[in-house]
Amino acid sequence: MKRVALVTGASRGIGRAVAVRLARAGCAVGVNYYERKDKADELVALLRGEGCEAIAVQADVSVRAEVDAMVRRVERELGPVTLLVSNAGVAGQALFQDVTDELWDRYFGVNLNGARNAIQAVLPHMIHEKSGCIVTVSSIWGQHGASCEVTYSCTKHALIGLTKSLAMELAPSGIRVNCVAPGVIDTDMVQVLGQETLRSLAAQTPLGRLGTPEDIAAAVAFLASDEAGFITGQVLTADGGFLP
Ligand code: NAP
Repeated sequence: MKRVALVTGASRGIGRAVAVRLARAGCAVGVNYYERKDKADELVALLRGEGCEAIAVQADVSVRAEVDAMVRRVERELGPVTLLVSNAGVAGQALFQDVTDELWDRYFGVNLNGARNAIQAVLPHMIHEKSGCIVTVSSIWGQHGASCEVTYSCTKHALIGLTKSLAMELAPSGIRVNCVAPGVIDTDMVQVLGQETLRSLAAQTPLGRLGTPEDIAAAVAFLASDEAGFITGQVLTADGGFLP
């Protein structure tokens, strides 16, 4: 069967590295982006230049109608989605008493509802085929508490709950659902912390460095591969040993 992957938030960072890895492994890839069409187009051109099949597809994952339209387009142009990597996410730091309803709703909208929307859009075909694979991208802050990141941490904890429960529900349909929980990864998302903090975080990491998007792409690729055929409902932490 043709392998078709949809990667949300694939214009930059971790999602981009995942899209590259999957395309080079032979998947046709839907490269979802939100605002950075330039980056998504650049990636698609790179992949096509290597002989891979890829298209850029815009959608705000928090909006169900946009996600449904995106998935229909991927199905039309590449084929039914056999692998979903729900990666799109937003993060930021704020004291809990400063968290507004708007911020709370946006984080849950993108990080959790975004995963729900994408999963529900690809499921009918996977259930029909009794086959498919879903990988969510949570965070070590979805496994442990994070000061000044309460909202983000809540969304990422919920994503792990979604992954584990859905894995149980979908196992009889032959669909595996797993999660990768990255530690501190050197992408645009963490640049707001500043170079000094990032150096200190690298020093606190037992492996002595920040993670790369490619480190996470390797974990996603493993969970998506046949090598992980008996693994479902699991959280694979890739953090260089950051959390005990
Ligand atoms: P990033 O560099 O900030 O990239 C974010 C990606 O998500 C971009 O492709 C962006 O698209 C997309 N995106 C944002 N809002 C979206 C929306 N509403 N709809 C669709 N796409 C949207 O982030 P990253 O570091 O690669 O993070 C990727 C995932 O890993 C996130 O879920 C994040 O929480 C998680 N994570 C990251 C780290 C880390 O240290 N970096 C650690 C743990 C977990 P545009 O470019 O088009 O705006």
